[in-house]
Amino acid sequence: MKTTEKRLKICAEQCGSKCCKSTQPVLSSEDFKRIKSSTDKNDWFEEIEENDEIIRLVRKKRESNDCIFLTNEGKCEIYEYRPLDCILFPIFLKIKEKEPSKYNIKWLVWFCPLSEKIGIDTLKIESKELVKNYLSSNPQYIFEYQTAMYKSGGYKKKHFLEEEDLTISNQE
Ligand code: SF4
Ligand code: SF4
Repeated sequence: MKTTEKRLKICAEQCGSKCCKSTQPVLSSEDFKRIKSSTDKNDWFEEIEENDEIIRLVRKKRESNDCIFLTNEGKCEIYEYRPLDCILFPIFLKIKEKEPSKYNIKWLVWFCPLSEKIGIDTLKIESKELVKNYLSSNPQYIFEYQTAMYKSGGYKKKHFLEEEDLTISNQE
């Protein structure tokens, strides 16, 4: 079974897509553009104001607590285009730029069937590769995600894993 299929099966069958039924993913401007171009829905996000700044979140369905993109079969309608918040979940990061191309990253996790079955180490290694790619090509994406996470309270109740320094080469 392919890795993605295995994960989707764990999420749907062993968890019941709980994170898609409880959380509201934050949206960076890049997430917003990507999803906007991939959906016919025009009421799929909401904006909240925090300290005079607007944060965008994926909206819940009106009739339930489910994410608007969660199908009745427990699948994500926009899986290929989902926000970074959903791509990383159940891993989270907090990042600081110490000097150009040098970053300090704190990794956090939300314990769930996926972290148990796939393993936190594997998930973190994959997230790190993704984050390194973005830091190399589009660091703004990671920092926008972080800002929205702080403002929306998205880091609450997550468990600290570890901290590390990263040096990124070939920044564009
Ligand atoms: S990522 Fe974790 S919480 Fe979310 S659906 Fe999968 S197993 Fe459940
Ligand atoms: S966008 Fe997709 S993956 Fe993210 S919470 Fe909604 S249904 Fe789940």
